[in-house]
Amino acid sequence: MEQQLDSVWTKTLNQVKTWARVNSPWAIHFNSGSCNGCDIEILATLTPRYDIERLGIKLQGSPRHADVLICTGPVTRQARDRLLRIYEQMPEPKFVIAVGSCGISGGAFHGCYNITGNISEVIPVDVFVPGCPPRPEAIIYGVAQLLEKLKASANPGKGD
Ligand code: SF4
Repeated sequence: MEQQLDSVWTKTLNQVKTWARVNSPWAIHFNSGSCNGCDIEILATLTPRYDIERLGIKLQGSPRHADVLICTGPVTRQARDRLLRIYEQMPEPKFVIAVGSCGISGGAFHGCYNITGNISEVIPVDVFVPGCPPRPEAIIYGVAQLLEKLKASANPGKGD
């Protein structure tokens, strides 16, 4: 009986956590070598004009509190270990959005001496947002795609 109560309690707690995550994911932003163009567009999504917080996204500073890592740029040799450390510090389940062509393929920095590769060569990426830099609308669309993925994983089989 006690075991059954424990499993019901754990299941309910997990459902509440998933509900909170889907409705208000917390994100951390990291520049792993970008020229800052993509970062400025991410900042634009936070302005009243685009207001990404209306989707429940909250940008905050600690990887320990983040569900989503929004990463820009190719990965420089200097930033590689930092990117890995930030990713490892995030609690499970965690998600990554790569913003900009450089994050997808190295872009303008492909082949440079100080670049170790693109973001997905260092950590797993869930959503790619192409563009150089992508417009705020494209970044918001990428976030919406991630939220759809989260909703689908929270409700497996729904809509089958
Ligand atoms: S995609 Fe363009 S704007 Fe973004 S970091 Fe690369 S060069 Fe800069």
